Amino acid sequence: MTTTEAPATTFESLDPRTGDVVGTHPVHTAEEVHATVERARTEAAWWGALGFDERERHLQTWKGAMTRRVAQLADLMHQETGKPHGDAMLECALAIDHLAWAASHAEKVLKRRKVPSGLLMANQAAYLEYQPLGVVGVIGPWNYPVFTPMGSIGYALAAGNAVVFKPSEYTPGVAEWLARTFLESVGRPVLSVVTGFGETGAALCAAGVDKVAFTGSTATGKKVMAACAATLTPVVIEAGGKDALLVDEDADVAAAADAALWGAAANAGQTCTGVERVYVHERVYDTFLDELTRAASRLEAHDGDDSPIGPITMPKQLDVIRRHITDALARGGRALVGGADAVGERFVQPTVLVDVPEESEAVQEETFGPTVTVRKVADMDEAVRLANSTRYGLGSTVFSKARGMELASRIRSGMTAVNGVITFAAVPSLPFGGVGDSGFGRIHGADGLKEFTFAKAIARQRFKPLLALTTFNRTAQADQQLASLLTVLHGRGTTIGKP
Ligand code: NDP
Repeated sequence: MTTTEAPATTFESLDPRTGDVVGTHPVHTAEEVHATVERARTEAAWWGALGFDERERHLQTWKGAMTRRVAQLADLMHQETGKPHGDAMLECALAIDHLAWAASHAEKVLKRRKVPSGLLMANQAAYLEYQPLGVVGVIGPWNYPVFTPMGSIGYALAAGNAVVFKPSEYTPGVAEWLARTFLESVGRPVLSVVTGFGETGAALCAAGVDKVAFTGSTATGKKVMAACAATLTPVVIEAGGKDALLVDEDADVAAAADAALWGAAANAGQTCTGVERVYVHERVYDTFLDELTRAASRLEAHDGDDSPIGPITMPKQLDVIRRHITDALARGGRALVGGADAVGERFVQPTVLVDVPEESEAVQEETFGPTVTVRKVADMDEAVRLANSTRYGLGSTVFSKARGMELASRIRSGMTAVNGVITFAAVPSLPFGGVGDSGFGRIHGADGLKEFTFAKAIARQRFKPLLALTTFNRTAQADQQLASLLTVLHGRGTTIGKP
């Protein structure tokens, strides 16, 4: 929308395969967003006071409703993103599993617990509990319009918050479906949705929410963080990646090639933890490349309902993908499958690039298309070094029989799958999030529940202290006794490296 145009009051979501209109949705103004957040505050007070058991009961009811109508949800996702129906079902299944986990683990992770108070403060009983923040604003992407925002929504709700969700302008119908089924299941709009463009998202950041959970590009993540800084509103930023897959000399090469192709091309490559770079030990490089190119050249994206890969959901992404491929080829890279012609008007065919210099955009920047670069390495030290040489650090993959765990922990990324691909995202007890330009903060798992709370510490005096220290009536004798006690407790120390 340009500034000279009158602001639209509605907008349409389109089927990216055909351009057909899927639905019409309101463009919520800043005032409307503000009013929604105000209403959510009332819901937060009700929801927060319910207690863990009641909230779990409501969330499990919603989970059941989603599950029973999952085909309907998957249909809508298929229409708004173009992704294959089966992929949409898989995405829903994982989101539902996470919701169930968050609902059933919130109490265990967040409830009040007693913690040791230490010898100096032995007269105190110490407690720790995690309290809801209030209203959480969730700004979601279009690539996984259910799984990704639900990683924030489900966990924030389970932790006792109300949520106001601003979906991407490409997938508003999916978001409205989630809010509608929540309302039908719970009876109150603890989850509400505001729709529109970037301006609506910006308004949500400024509407007095207690935290913003953002998923999208690093550039917009920085804008969100800057907007939130004005009100000291905390943020979780999940900002994409340039994930590497490493293949060791002892790896199951066929499985690694299969994983590389699926990781690179599933969802037409529009996956924040998609495989975009592969580093292969020189001893298995040729075999790996044979397997990968053979499988990749059999994979075709088309507009039929049985296409294994959908279209590029966001049209402007086509230019990014084309630019990365063209630049890679101009710098001496070779396309073994696909290439410059792979980028069509709506679909991109799988593309396997080799001999691409490491400093090119195709290796350094998020492509978000079904493309992958493959490079031969002399050993796994080189593979780890190259994997760690971008500004991103979201996910990664290692194929190795003997050294999987060692290599995994040497890669600077929030998550690593060993001998599988993107498997970490489907394990509800594992946290999900990145380092560097991939963002910070965590969704999923116990960390994901705590992300939407604040730690509340309580020290309760059990009996009068033997040494009265926190009083202006403190005596010189008490000071002396403290000094002696300190020496007994901490005076000896240890000398590192010496017996
Ligand atoms: P953006 O980061 O621009 O958008 C993500 C979300 O933020 C959308 O809901 C968007 O709304 C909203 N938004 C946009 N501007 C603002 C703002 N100023 N304040 C608050 N919210 C805002 O991503 P795009 O969809 O444009 O995709 C661009 C690139 O981002 C992709 O090419 C890909 O590389 C990366 N990306 C990464 C994702 C991931 O999973 N980490 C997901 C999606 C994209 P609206 O859509 O209405 O503009």
